Amino acid sequence: MKNYVFWFVVGSHMLYGDECLAQVGMDAVRIAEHLSDVLPYPVEFYDVMKSNSEITEIISKANRADDCAGVITFCHTFSPSKMWINGLSLLQKPWLIFHTQFNADIPNEAIDMDYMNLHQSAHGDREHGFIGARMRIPRKVIAGYWEDNAVTDRIADWQRVAVGASFSKTLKLMRFGDNMREVAVTEGDKIEAQIKLGWQVNTWGVGKLVETMETISQKEIDEKLAEYADRYDLSAITSDKDKETLRYQAVEEIAIRKLLDEQGCTAFSNTFQDLYGLRQLPGIATQNLMADGYGYAGEGDWKTSALVAIMKRMGKTNKSYSDGLSMFMEDYNYDLKQGICLGAHMLEVDPVIAENKPCVEIHPLGIGDREDPARIVFENKPGKGIVASLIDIGGRFRLIVQEIECIKPTQTMPNLPVARVMWKPEPSLTIGAECWIIAGGAHHTVLSLDVTSEQMRDFARIMDIEFILIDKNSTPAKIEEELIINDLVWKLKG
Ligand code: MN
Repeated sequence: MKNYVFWFVVGSHMLYGDECLAQVGMDAVRIAEHLSDVLPYPVEFYDVMKSNSEITEIISKANRADDCAGVITFCHTFSPSKMWINGLSLLQKPWLIFHTQFNADIPNEAIDMDYMNLHQSAHGDREHGFIGARMRIPRKVIAGYWEDNAVTDRIADWQRVAVGASFSKTLKLMRFGDNMREVAVTEGDKIEAQIKLGWQVNTWGVGKLVETMETISQKEIDEKLAEYADRYDLSAITSDKDKETLRYQAVEEIAIRKLLDEQGCTAFSNTFQDLYGLRQLPGIATQNLMADGYGYAGEGDWKTSALVAIMKRMGKTNKSYSDGLSMFMEDYNYDLKQGICLGAHMLEVDPVIAENKPCVEIHPLGIGDREDPARIVFENKPGKGIVASLIDIGGRFRLIVQEIECIKPTQTMPNLPVARVMWKPEPSLTIGAECWIIAGGAHHTVLSLDVTSEQMRDFARIMDIEFILIDKNSTPAKIEEELIINDLVWKLKG
């Protein structure tokens, strides 16, 4: 990951005189320093904007700065917005209007007309907001005091989205094999995905993977097996046959990782219908890659795989993206009496949300016609979260997000040979499922315990894709109306 920064662009104009402008500059430095202290990415202040040419120049520079993940604006004084039109018309970075004020209160004695002229963001940011609305530029607005933690937490979430958007623009995904035969929802327009989301989705032969596996050294395999022993409980792997199975997964993992890293890919997909030359479907091999921050989804589902990689980088839990609590998930089974959904996958469940140390187990896989693969098995941690699905609805992408609460699994399910996750969806299992199915959401999702629905809405706005939220207030009738209106809106947008 790059060391991203955010540019703090503070609006004013020449009318107020040097003394006032100097004060605006000093206040802006104080705000930027505080924000840099509390936010995950630093906020850099350059200068007070006083003219059309200065604004145009700073926005052009921000566009060209690779490490600039977004622009935060604040109008300490009034800053007439016609000055901003030329600059904003060039803006290519995510934009946050931070509506704050240098002082938190109205000072009874000190307030006079000079004070009011200096501290008039209440007035300046409204003018600034107008030009954003008039120019129809995608933007986030956050209002509140700059030293208030609840406010800076929201800015932190937005920063993570902006970094996710920047990462999205450079994402490369490696596909081994095509989509699972006959499946509809995992298909999609890769050209449109690159235009809107920046994703470079390309194919590599499974034969290339098999070739690479033949080049892996004993030393590399020993190191990988030592890593498995450190991360996972291997007590069930005792026979020589089981050890050989685990060794084969290690070789698969090392080879996949090599190919991904050589090409700068941070996400991949494969399918059990194209395993030519492989003895096992990658199980723990894929799970361990996901634990290290690589995106993955099964059955050739490149859309979900890419979204996993991006959401891992948008999570708030992480010091580094590999700690992000986002994972590939699939809806499998319901407890209709208690309103609970059971999610899993046939092998590839990401251990980032494991409650305890995962166990390595070897079981037959009834699908794909290969040897029994090793996989890690575990239960999820509880907590509030979301599931997200990106679908190609024809002419555009639709991002569907549902709020959920992960719960401790209600049963032990001793014969289930895969990792499992249980959650209660909003507003309820059945109403939520009705909304989801009406919107066309997939059975594959990204489940996250540290990315919020507000962040996903911000991501959709930045990327210019459709967004549908299913939360405690959703009803099928309301979702249906929203979808009809969206169809019209997106047709008009062309
Ligand atoms: Mn699947």
